[in-house]
Order: sequence, then structure tokens, then C-alpha cells
Amino acid sequence: MIYVDLCPMCGVLREMDVTGFQTAVVDADGRTIELLTRAFHCKACTCFVRSDEVLDVPEHREDVRLDDPSPEGVDAFQAERTAEGV
Ligand SMILES: [Zn+2]
Repeated sequence: MIYVDLCPMCGVLREMDVTGFQTAVVDADGRTIELLTRAFHCKACTCFVRSDEVLDVPEHREDVRLDDPSPEGVDAFQAERTAEGV
């Protein structure tokens, strides 16, 4: 994947160097969510251009909807609550 963005130093579109790091944050429900922060730097002058953040929520941590009609969904929800000691 190649990222191209407008570099404020060069004043033209440049290919970006992308570096990323993960931090763990806790949401309002007390769940831990991996937050992936990416920083974009110009490949030509190494000037910092921008950064963005991507929420990386593992599938098994997603809430099972209570209106899910499938019995597996309810079992999975209850199993998770039991595992957490709720
Ligand atoms: Zn540049």
C-alpha cells in the first residue's frame, strides 16, 4: 500500500513514509481497545505531514447483540459475562 499526500514543505504530492504504533485504551464500557496510530512523513524531505488513528477492535471482543435471534449468540454473550465474573 502506497500513501500519497500533499507535503507542506515540498508543496507537492509526495509518497509518504508510514509508521504506526499501537496503544491500548479503555472505552466507556471498560473494554480494552487497541488504538493504532499512524504517522505520515514525506519520503523526500521527511517532514511530518499528518497522523490518523484506527480503532482495532478484535472480533471476539465485539458485543453480541441482545436481539440476535441465534441461540449461539446469546450463549457466547453469557459465556463472556461468566468469564469476566459479572
Ligand atoms: Zn516533503
